Amino acid sequence: MPILDRVELAPADPILGLTEAFKADDRTNKVNLGVGVYLGEDGKLPLMDAVRIAEERLAGQARPHGYLGIDGLPSYNQATRALVFGAESEAVASGRITTVQTLGGTGALKVAADFLRTIDADAKVLISSPSWENHRALFTRAGFTVEEYRYYAPEARGIDFDGMLEDLEAAAAGTIVVLHACCHNPTGYDLAPEQWDQVIRTISERGLVALVDMAYQGFGFGIEEDGAVIGKFVDAGLEFFVTTSFSKSFSLYGERIGALHVVSPDADTARKVLSQVKICIRTNYSNPATQGAALVDIILGDAELRANWEAELGGMRERIKSLRSRLVQGLQEHGVDDMGFIREQLGMFSYSGLTKDQMVALRNEHAVYGTDKGRMCVAALNSNNVDHVARAIAAVR
Ligand code: PMP
Repeated sequence: MPILDRVELAPADPILGLTEAFKADDRTNKVNLGVGVYLGEDGKLPLMDAVRIAEERLAGQARPHGYLGIDGLPSYNQATRALVFGAESEAVASGRITTVQTLGGTGALKVAADFLRTIDADAKVLISSPSWENHRALFTRAGFTVEEYRYYAPEARGIDFDGMLEDLEAAAAGTIVVLHACCHNPTGYDLAPEQWDQVIRTISERGLVALVDMAYQGFGFGIEEDGAVIGKFVDAGLEFFVTTSFSKSFSLYGERIGALHVVSPDADTARKVLSQVKICIRTNYSNPATQGAALVDIILGDAELRANWEAELGGMRERIKSLRSRLVQGLQEHGVDDMGFIREQLGMFSYSGLTKDQMVALRNEHAVYGTDKGRMCVAALNSNNVDHVARAIAAVR
């Protein structure tokens, strides 16, 4: 019996679909600010120096291509856990964190979602309004009902913190709350440390389950500074989930390398959690890929390479900040003087406040590609395109 005639054409992915349209565009001044990728001054994806050196070391070893264990490379898991929680953390020392290597941050979220479904199939998932487009889709596909908590207030150009707390306070016990650790995607607005304390208190009092998604560690203020929020959850004595990605911070997008960390009250629970999480992995993709884990493991395990990596990441972070300033300056030169907020936002993105019509005009008339919701990846700007982008934004406003 034919079954494929029932298949309907799905809409293109809102972000990856843009890249397809960008590739098909033959205008020479085109700029892709749609996808969240950091590009260097030459407009190209960087190969980080530490990654290049680690690759050379691996190439010299002529390793055969065996399977990793279901949970990944043990030394990678240990190193990434120390990076996220701090090597001195009591939670690390007591063995109550389950860490598994995953296929990027998306893989970590999917494994977490599948595991959470096995614990409480009726729990609701709350994501920020707005959030990374894939959060809703991924948790919905995993079987959850997904709703939003208030986060961004367009009029105030900042966070609707009272609204956020109100929504968390109104959530039923057991509700899963997806939070962005730093460099909120898409808005670029993060909670202040005191606001995190209040959110954590509410999560604890209301019995909510926090899932902290950290795809941009190091792009806000620094590795340790951005990771500090995770320490706050540990200090509050909560059980919680952390999903991390090295796509951006090591520029290893295509290697699909990330991790899921589950913090349990004790080591015995952590062992049980691991046994269940392994089933979720086994039934999804069996075991993760080798190359990205091997590279990150070499870099984090070698003091010199690690310092080299941190310095280069710091350079990327500072360069994004200067690109923000140059864009604001360029906009001012073209008569737009009310977009200084771009300078205050953190991470790769700027939520520009432009309407869908303006974003479409940017694309059609100026070959500048951003998402319909007004998100632009400022990390893809450079000296050659920033003026064109500023002039184009001024023209559509
Ligand atoms: N979470 C957020 C908030 C993201 O922005 C991204 C990447 N765009 C991810 C998760 C997924 O990262 P990865 O590409 O490593 O799957």
